[in-house]
Amino acid sequence: MKCPVCKDVTLLMSEKRGIEVDYCPECRGIWLDRGELDKIIEKEKNNKIFSENQEDENKPKKDSFIDEILEIFSE
Ligand SMILES: [Zn+2]
Repeated sequence: MKCPVCKDVTLLMSEKRGIEVDYCPECRGIWLDRGELDKIIEKEKNNKIFSENQEDENKPKKDSFIDEILEIFSE
């Protein structure tokens, strides 16, 4: 799949924790397949429920939706 912005650049695929994202190395754009966003939202919901039930202050704050995505590209 080509980048819709750069036209001539082929998107790279990254898969992390069951979520696949296509990203453009040129403009750093990120594209999610249909359904992948739902998976992230679902994970986020689970995280919220999990952290509400848990009062362990030593644990880092749960990743937000954006953190989740950024984390994929920080490695
Ligand atoms: Zn691009």
